[in-house]
Amino acid sequence: MLDGQSGTLNERVVEFDPNIWKAMEERGRAILKSTPEDLPPAAFEPERAQNGKMQLELRCRYCQYKHHCWPGAQLALRGNKPSWYIKEQSDV
Ligand code: SF4
Repeated sequence: MLDGQSGTLNERVVEFDPNIWKAMEERGRAILKSTPEDLPPAAFEPERAQNGKMQLELRCRYCQYKHHCWPGAQLALRGNKPSWYIKEQSDV
């Protein structure tokens, strides 16, 4: 909902959780220290698709950095929907 006075969209107040804060702070530090050769671990894990293959999680499928986090990810059609799959160690 748009607040006409402040111009903000969908602002929410959430209870402070020190554990979430600590995790976000550590992740932020890891990102700031990262280099193209030493990237932080991917934030989301692949999931097993109905066809048994490992596919990228929804957010990764649409992310422009997927090839950095998931080198070798390959686009394939699942029915008529595009999806991105990775090879498992046992596939290699
Ligand atoms: S591919 Fe994108 S969304 Fe997925 S973990 Fe990497 S940066 Fe995050």
